[in-house]
Amino acid sequence: MGYPWHQLPAWRVLDTDFGSGQTFLSTWNAWQQDAGRPRTLHYVALCEQPCGAQDLIAGCATMPALATLARELAAQWFGLLPGFHRFSLARGQVVLTLCVGEPLGMLRAQQFEADAVELCAKQLGTADSSWFLKALARCCRRGTTLYLRGQNDESSADETELRATLTRNGFTFTSNDTRDWQSAPAQPRGHFDPPWVLKHSRQGAALAALPIERCAVIGAGLAGASVAAALARRGWQVHVLDLASEPAAGASGLPVGLVVPHVSSDDCTLSRLSRAGARLMLQQACQLLEINQDWAPSGVLERQVGGTPKLPQVWPPSGEQWCEDFSDSDIAGQLGPGIWHQQGAWIKPAALVNAWLLQPGVTFQPHAEVTDIRHADGIWELLDATGTALCRAERVVFANACGAFHLLHKMKLLKPDLYGLWEHLPATQGMRGLLNWDFHQGPIDASFPPFPVNGSGSVVPRIPVGGELAWFMGSSYQPQSQPERSDMINQANNFKHLEQLLPPLARHLAPAFATNTLKTWKNTRCVTADRLPAVGPLQVAEQPGLWLCAGMGSRGLSFSVLCAELLAARFGAEPLPIEAKLARSLEALRA
Ligand SMILES: Cc1cc2nc3c(=O)[nH]c(=O)nc-3n(C[C@H](O)[C@H](O)[C@H](O)COP(=O)(O)OP(=O)(O)OC[C@H]3O[C@@H](n4cnc5c(N)ncnc54)[C@H](O)[C@@H]3O)c2cc1C
Repeated sequence: MGYPWHQLPAWRVLDTDFGSGQTFLSTWNAWQQDAGRPRTLHYVALCEQPCGAQDLIAGCATMPALATLARELAAQWFGLLPGFHRFSLARGQVVLTLCVGEPLGMLRAQQFEADAVELCAKQLGTADSSWFLKALARCCRRGTTLYLRGQNDESSADETELRATLTRNGFTFTSNDTRDWQSAPAQPRGHFDPPWVLKHSRQGAALAALPIERCAVIGAGLAGASVAAALARRGWQVHVLDLASEPAAGASGLPVGLVVPHVSSDDCTLSRLSRAGARLMLQQACQLLEINQDWAPSGVLERQVGGTPKLPQVWPPSGEQWCEDFSDSDIAGQLGPGIWHQQGAWIKPAALVNAWLLQPGVTFQPHAEVTDIRHADGIWELLDATGTALCRAERVVFANACGAFHLLHKMKLLKPDLYGLWEHLPATQGMRGLLNWDFHQGPIDASFPPFPVNGSGSVVPRIPVGGELAWFMGSSYQPQSQPERSDMINQANNFKHLEQLLPPLARHLAPAFATNTLKTWKNTRCVTADRLPAVGPLQVAEQPGLWLCAGMGSRGLSFSVLCAELLAARFGAEPLPIEAKLARSLEALRA
């Protein structure tokens, strides 16, 4: 007998010990085989030390159906440092969140209620187990099903004692029912059904899922389109509005950008968030974009140049054929210390925005500038400057970068009694940026590195544009509050950065930078005071109607998918993609 998940929109499993992934792979397989499966399977698994990619595959060598799934997972099995790691599988309908670290701490970092718990008995019977069970009970709703495994392990507690301990913590064992899937051993089953009243304050945030309905998203850039796709995958009807005639008309019209995690010696909040976000972005690029045309997992070298904080020196990397070729070239010797980001990539953001907007369940409305919103009969109406309703929906997400904060502040001024809370929005400012680019003339000069390099601005050396190859060097950074600098001054600043970043390339490109014939692209980033995006409800209510997803700063490619997943998780009372404390650092009303 499998999980009782039939006809539910989502099913949330909490597994206290991932091991080499067999229980997860069996669950994924059972989900795949079941015609009445829930739309989304969420599987949260704890592990102190992740197994290797080979162990995933070896663990199910005798089960061909699982081995295929194991190989799909193994392809994403890298960089599993302490913390949460999310894997989007089966086109986003099977979502694994692997929580690496000490199990009690990882349980306390959760913010969701599981439908089923897979408990490994060997984790009990120690001094810490009563805290562990209390933390586990906090992740259960009344009725959560409990499956026990590993009772025959020598290190596990005696079964009678084990059941007594679990009963004290609110679990009941009323039948001898066992769950027996072909690919998984039979397991005793219990339920979380304590005789005491459950407090609503057991978790920090509201946990009820919003009914799956209509959602309007203002802004068709990376933020808005990724929110639309994340909600549509979960069954929402999403209407995306933008004032422009086509998607990605703002900062997301960037011809090419880098997705590279931030690195710091203390692994600060920004580093952890950008690492989680970069993983999610690469999964989306892999699923939706044409490799070497719209994106490439090229790797990125982050150089330490004057003024950059000291970085761990992991350059040159070893064992990569293309690096060995490159290490013979003249510029390799001049690159000096830096970090090699094996998972770094370049992406054309507009290609991704368009792909997200084409997902089933998403519609796009151009030429739709939202200037006000109105609430009537439980529905939000988005209005244009003439007061005409552009769209109606139960939920609204403001994902229009700086425009969101302008609109929200205007609404607060007009209706302070309704929107007074918005004084807690983070402070933001627009940051102008300009990048220079051009096509390679003839064969690519040897002074161009074979991969992108950043650290003092960034060089992206070989990007296909309209059948030719182009290089990009960016980007300037200037507050919008200052008088706009001329394009030539920005170009000169970009060149100064290039001189620091790659002196041989700067010498080669000096004549081009001295002219005004280089091509330019410019736009404005929306930057918050703490450089972190703002995502979450804009109202304190059981079913908030107004939400924000903005402030991506210079890292829209690293943050947008993470923010969309976070917002969708809050909509659906799903497991969070990151630790609850990290998620709180992104709250919309946090100032
Ligand atoms: C020069 C430069 C270089 C960059 N390089 C990188 C990089 O290498 N890597 C990286 O990760 N990031 C980079 N970024 C940042 C990245 O481009 C942004 O973080 C990202 O595009 C922001 O996406 P967004 O959807 O929040 O905003 P936007 O793309 O600006 O989208 C906002 C949308 O809202 C619409 N809108 C505004 N107001 C309204 C309204 N009232 N009604 C309807 N629609 C409205 C706008 O038309 C726009 O389409 C760079 C940015 C710049 C400027």
